[in-house]
Amino acid sequence: MENGAVNEELIQTDVLCIGGGIAGLMAAIRARELGAKVVVAEKCNTLHSGRGRAGNDHFWCYIPEVHGADMELFLKDCLKGPKLKLMQAGTSMSVLRTFLEKSFDIVKLWDSWGIPMKYQGGWEFAGHSFHGDVLTHLKYEGLKQKRVLTEKALEKKAEIMNRVMIFDLLRNEDGVIGAIGIHTREDKVIVLQAKAVILGTGFVDRLYPPSVPGWLASVAGSLTLTGDGRAMTYRAGGELVGPEIPRRHVGPRYFARYGQATWVGVLRDTHGKPIGPYVTKPDKRYGDMTPEVKGVLLEDYMKSGKGPVYMDCRGISDEDYEYMMHWLVHEGNSSLIDHINEEGIDLRKDPVEFGTYQMVPEGKIWINEKAETSIKGLYAAGDESMGGIGASASYGWIAGEHAATYAKEAPAPKVEKGRAEIEERKGLVGEMCTRKEGPDWKEANIALQQIMQDYAGPVRSETLLKAGLSYLQRLKKKVGSPLYGEVETRRGRFEGFIQWDHDECLSTDVLDGDSEDGDMEIQFGNIQSIEKYRRGSLVTLKSGREFYLTGSNDVNSENRGVIVKDPRFGRVLIGWRAFENITFHDRVNDSGPAFDDFIVPKMLSGVVKTKDGKTHSGRIIYDLDEVYDLEILDGNDGRIEYLIPFRKIKKITPERRYGSIIKLKSGEELELEDSRDIDEDNDGIIVWDSDKEEYIPWREVEEIVFN
Ligand SMILES: Cc1cc2nc3c(=O)[nH]c(=O)nc-3n(C[C@H](O)[C@H](O)[C@H](O)COP(=O)(O)OP(=O)(O)OC[C@H]3O[C@@H](n4cnc5c(N)ncnc54)[C@H](O)[C@@H]3O)c2cc1C
Repeated sequence: MENGAVNEELIQTDVLCIGGGIAGLMAAIRARELGAKVVVAEKCNTLHSGRGRAGNDHFWCYIPEVHGADMELFLKDCLKGPKLKLMQAGTSMSVLRTFLEKSFDIVKLWDSWGIPMKYQGGWEFAGHSFHGDVLTHLKYEGLKQKRVLTEKALEKKAEIMNRVMIFDLLRNEDGVIGAIGIHTREDKVIVLQAKAVILGTGFVDRLYPPSVPGWLASVAGSLTLTGDGRAMTYRAGGELVGPEIPRRHVGPRYFARYGQATWVGVLRDTHGKPIGPYVTKPDKRYGDMTPEVKGVLLEDYMKSGKGPVYMDCRGISDEDYEYMMHWLVHEGNSSLIDHINEEGIDLRKDPVEFGTYQMVPEGKIWINEKAETSIKGLYAAGDESMGGIGASASYGWIAGEHAATYAKEAPAPKVEKGRAEIEERKGLVGEMCTRKEGPDWKEANIALQQIMQDYAGPVRSETLLKAGLSYLQRLKKKVGSPLYGEVETRRGRFEGFIQWDHDECLSTDVLDGDSEDGDMEIQFGNIQSIEKYRRGSLVTLKSGREFYLTGSNDVNSENRGVIVKDPRFGRVLIGWRAFENITFHDRVNDSGPAFDDFIVPKMLSGVVKTKDGKTHSGRIIYDLDEVYDLEILDGNDGRIEYLIPFRKIKKITPERRYGSIIKLKSGEELELEDSRDIDEDNDGIIVWDSDKEEYIPWREVEEIVFN
């Protein structure tokens, strides 16, 4: 990316699936079956991305021959379980019913595609339920599920674009018309125009510091799950449900992969006492439900000094041990198993320390039974709207079906109408990719997680949340770099750091105005130049596009003017009348003044010549007031106001009653007036010549030459 200019690729499709996880791939397969053109944009690679990347082993579903003919009864029983109750908080009952009605079809479909859904020839249910309650989760072999689903999507001729991270939805007044993303391997931004968009972007796994803070990737879910779908929906004006509800998982300490309901053991303290009331010996059917009821218990044990908690599988039969290991592999715990084998750990003899992992928000994007969000043309499925594999697979399918049907009737959208928005986002990408100095994304990531942990952590209050929010806002501002540019005026050119309208000074700040296409908000980082023109301004973006903007004090005569920090003069305040145009420059290596730029102040000294031909040299008190060289002389040349530190001034020559000629050390000469610093209202000069103090009234000063 040269000078922040960003390449662009435009892709048109009927249905865009954002995220190629379980839900996204299922949606793509179904939408293709119904004849829609489908693109899947995946941040990682669909073969190994998302929470289902390494496998899963529990599939929530309703199978009439197992659960009985009354689905309502089954649903009621399901919601007694703490995990499902929490996970599905905010999901409407009609959505839950629609999912359960579809779930068995999906089970059969997966089985037929090569994801084994039966164990030893039958439907095997275990885990996530209390003793005596209905078993809700089908055991299945999910190890290869991502490969099977990817191949199926490709077989159906969905286009999969791996390494494309979508970062914003594009919408018009009716609804969503596409999205914009960045290719993480190639140098380009991708603009996707779509009649319908399905969000299958998964959970939020990276909002809080991971259980091993030194390792960014050490999250139980997946590194790529950063809550993008929820954030995009929120920014596009869509409704979210319960984003504040937190969840804590438990699993092997520092290994950050859970297998919570797959372990066949008992969680015990250091004295061998079970920490929960549910099991006293390994039980392969129900496991230990303690973490699902209160995952934070393990952290409480540590904090209170009671010590670590262990998953203790001792006493397990050989047959049950084989059973557990089989499902641990399918749940994607192969690296843990490799580690256990390498270290010679035998789970039949050695308890494994467990811990509470980081907080993850349980909130969702609101959907109805058709997987429609509150924004027309936008659908959501999977962990974004209803958690777990069973629900992700089933609702992905349902979303694909409805999105394809909608796309058949929907008019072809025109993303070009939202060109300004696209350019704004391209500018941000360009600015971030070319930045060489300042904090990088990892530091921003750590700062964000730290703020979330401390201010929106397990303990929350209005005051904490308010303080946290203000820190987040400051963090967001830091993403911007200072504006730098060259301003042309009727009195010449000025170059330096810029403050627009006495206000905006960062690349992330926004210029407002009305264009032919309606209201516009353009980030300064995207702007190449602004030229005063008639009742407004011509704004040229870095991409070369031009807009004529009016109707706001950013672009018309109500603008308070441009402040330039020009090193020749100090600060220059250019009123709108004097302003002609500005061209912005990238100063990636310059983030503003550093500590060393603030030099130690010196006393003013020099020679004062009086009109009677005498000279007085020594320390100077100027206007009976200014003593140090960092103090400011103020003056106006009729159009532009100068605020000049005395250390930049070589000579001041009073001219008539109204002003003075100021000669600067940089060689520039200015005729300034309109300030008591340089006109007849000046209170005069005191010069210390050795021990002698001389007061010289302003009217007698011929010139002052500073050392
Ligand atoms: C260790 C572990 C074990 C689990 N075991 C079970 C289990 O046994 N049973 C069960 O029901 N559930 C289980 N789950 C949960 C289950 O994996 C998820 O519910 C399921 O994967 C959600 O599917 P999804 O399609 O919504 O999201 P994911 O499968 O997580 O996919 C989301 C995809 O979106 C992509 N993406 C995100 N943001 C963007 C973006 N901006 N642009 C482009 N792409 C993007 C991601 O890279 C990812 O590929 C487990 C989770 C973990 C972590």
